[in-house]
Amino acid sequence: MTDRYQAVLLFGAPGAGKGTQGELIGKVPGYFHMSTGDMFRSLDKHSELGKVFHDYSSKGELVPDEVTVALWHQYVHAQALLGIFKPVSELLILDGIPRTEAQTGLMDQYIDVLGVIHLVANDRDEMVKRLSRRAMQQKRVDDAREEVVRNRLDVYDRETKPVLDHYDPSIVHEVNAIGSPGAVLGEILRVLTPIHEHRFANCLEV
Ligand code: AMP
Repeated sequence: MTDRYQAVLLFGAPGAGKGTQGELIGKVPGYFHMSTGDMFRSLDKHSELGKVFHDYSSKGELVPDEVTVALWHQYVHAQALLGIFKPVSELLILDGIPRTEAQTGLMDQYIDVLGVIHLVANDRDEMVKRLSRRAMQQKRVDDAREEVVRNRLDVYDRETKPVLDHYDPSIVHEVNAIGSPGAVLGEILRVLTPIHEHRFANCLEV
């Protein structure tokens, strides 16, 4: 298992700001942000997988584990092959995967998790408001209806939150997700920088 990708997970409920923060981190040299939500949304809507994604996401449900991990693996492999993602000099920031205990087991063969950043946002009503606002801005079908948003939050509590127990508490870092994007980013970088420096300590290429 020596050629696993070294990764940090961006973890948190829908609406906690993983996408926003992931994008910002991805602009910092030495980090590569990959979002499974973006991966699914980039699929051709008329393709078989695109239709599968639409069926699940429009109800606020997760796409089945095997399909998700297989697609993720192809996707990351292609980006590495094309030189878009440079594993020798960039730390992979994973946003949105693993999202179930089964995915966690499946992903272990592909990633070595150096840290987990848990964006903590406990105000459910605030999350619903954030997601509804974003749905209008980005025309997202999954967050357009309140019942779907609430289902997404239930799915997170039931299926995704237990994933945290899989990792050694010493590598799980809680960051308060409520604050300005700059303030939250500052907190995240305070956690990420030592992980990054340790990972690439002996590399000259960064
Ligand atoms: P997101 O943009 O991360 O909120 O993801 C949008 C939708 O994509 C989710 O509601 C799921 O339907 C699907 N999705 C994203 N990541 C995963 C995953 N790891 N496992 C299963 N489904 C996922």
